[in-house]
Amino acid sequence: MVNYSSLMPSSMIIFLLTILCHLISINGRTMTWNASLLSPEIPDTKLRRDAKALDLASWDFGKIENIKPNAVLYPSSVDDIVNLLSLSYNSTSPFRVAGKGRGHSIRGQAMVKDGVVVEMTSLNDVKNNSRIRIFKDPELGYCADVGGEQLWIDVLNATLREGLSPVSWTDYLYLTVGGTLSNAGISGQTFRYGPQISNVYELDVVTGKGELVTCSSKNNPDLFYAVLGGLGQFGIITRARIRLDNAPTKVKWVRLIYYDFSAYSSDQEKLISISDDGLNYLEGSLIMDYSSTDSWRSLFPPGDVERISSLLTHHKILYCLEAVKYYNYTTTINEDEDIDKLFQGLSYVPGFIFKKDATYMDFLNRVRAEELLLQSLGLWDVPHPWLNMFIPKSRILDFNQEVFVNIIHKQNRSTGPLLAYPTRRNKWDERMSAVIPDGEIFYVVGLLHSAEDGDWKSWDNQNKQILDLCKKTGIEIKEYLSNQKTKEEWILHFGSKWETFVKRKNQFDPKMIMSPGQNIFN
Ligand code: FAD
Repeated sequence: MVNYSSLMPSSMIIFLLTILCHLISINGRTMTWNASLLSPEIPDTKLRRDAKALDLASWDFGKIENIKPNAVLYPSSVDDIVNLLSLSYNSTSPFRVAGKGRGHSIRGQAMVKDGVVVEMTSLNDVKNNSRIRIFKDPELGYCADVGGEQLWIDVLNATLREGLSPVSWTDYLYLTVGGTLSNAGISGQTFRYGPQISNVYELDVVTGKGELVTCSSKNNPDLFYAVLGGLGQFGIITRARIRLDNAPTKVKWVRLIYYDFSAYSSDQEKLISISDDGLNYLEGSLIMDYSSTDSWRSLFPPGDVERISSLLTHHKILYCLEAVKYYNYTTTINEDEDIDKLFQGLSYVPGFIFKKDATYMDFLNRVRAEELLLQSLGLWDVPHPWLNMFIPKSRILDFNQEVFVNIIHKQNRSTGPLLAYPTRRNKWDERMSAVIPDGEIFYVVGLLHSAEDGDWKSWDNQNKQILDLCKKTGIEIKEYLSNQKTKEEWILHFGSKWETFVKRKNQFDPKMIMSPGQNIFN
């Protein structure tokens, strides 16, 4: 264990003593230091206990859990995080700590009861200290070193200025690098490039022992693989070295409509199996007959909305395959012919293919436009009882019938997007903590409900009904962004990875300090 106190300037020691005083007083014990002697040095801007800071740290995007920490650290350097975690680790009564990225979890995963939340985005507030650095490594090629607190939209903007871009994305870009790498980071690019966790070369992590460690597949590999998809259990990611490639400039964006799920899924699987020259992105979603036309009309040309509506009335559920191929302004091929070739022989409803052109940026940042619209209608800041799952390909037809048709459609209730698209396991690394089902192809299903009337519990009950049904009928799903699990359920979730997960926990966070909001070890 490194003794950080010998390396610290006296102002930092005072800062740490201040934190300890706060926490000891919080725990109702006698304060051993005289806080008034320290008060001139108390950096209130860093360790805040005011109502506003505590309130901000006790909610997330889900708007379901409300868990108050004792304090919130607003770090201005990585050292602040090192010092906080080593203070906890070396204390006889360690306090719990969680990194909070953008707090876009659903169920309190970045919250800490009676502990300290580290508001990671404050690392970004330090003036003249850009924490995105783009360079060419002689072995790896183009890379970006980015702070764990950086938003993906900022990484995109910075890299595009150099004509470069990360290759793997999430649908929504206002999430932090540390937050998505703690889960997996998936989207329609995953089948081709792997999840975001497969596109990282190196990390800096402040472990639960308060040690700042650089790790990669060659250097401290146990920590590297533990942290990727590790649900914040091993430490706080303060830097990630991310793979970059030349950025495309424009995209062909195509939607195909089906009413037969079997044709839809079989075409999706065909499209993700084309090698190099195929699509760069593939997703898909459901449109229900009871959904308001406003929830899907913007996806199609205005002149086609009516005929899609009547197809929907007739078939009750439509499946919309969404595909994108990237191009550059410099390409000389005929893009229309190129993209048409990909869809030849597919089984979509004849005539129900819709193509459009977009810039690469507009395509990647597509959810932002929806967010701004929902915000303006007061519909963004509502509870989000989401359920995200990976379903084995072998059971996806059963899942469609039992869940989409028999449960969700029968409820006849409006909701947010319902995503269903296949992806491939060959770009996932077994050594990482992230968990996926067996089989080369599995489906990503996202039931992204918005409880506009505030009644999240009925959606939550439906989610439980779906999980129970999968258990009863032997559909071996893996939850993504899991929440609300008992210890036994976590053990089942991790399956053969559980033993390694526990071993790594004992190695990097033996005092069980990190991210208690995931409810795995606490
Ligand atoms: P937070 O919610 O703040 O934190 C999540 C977890 O990671 C917590 O346990 C926290 O303690 C830990 N953590 C946070 N920062 C760090 C760090 N630096 N080091 C270590 N641990 C840390 N996910 C996808 O994969 N694909 C999508 O397309 C997608 N779309 C989304 C769209 C929306 C609108 C929303 C709200 C979420 C979406 N997500 C998606 C889910 C998202 O990836 C996760 O919720 C992610 O955790 C959010 O990142 P965050 O920065 O808000 O993390």
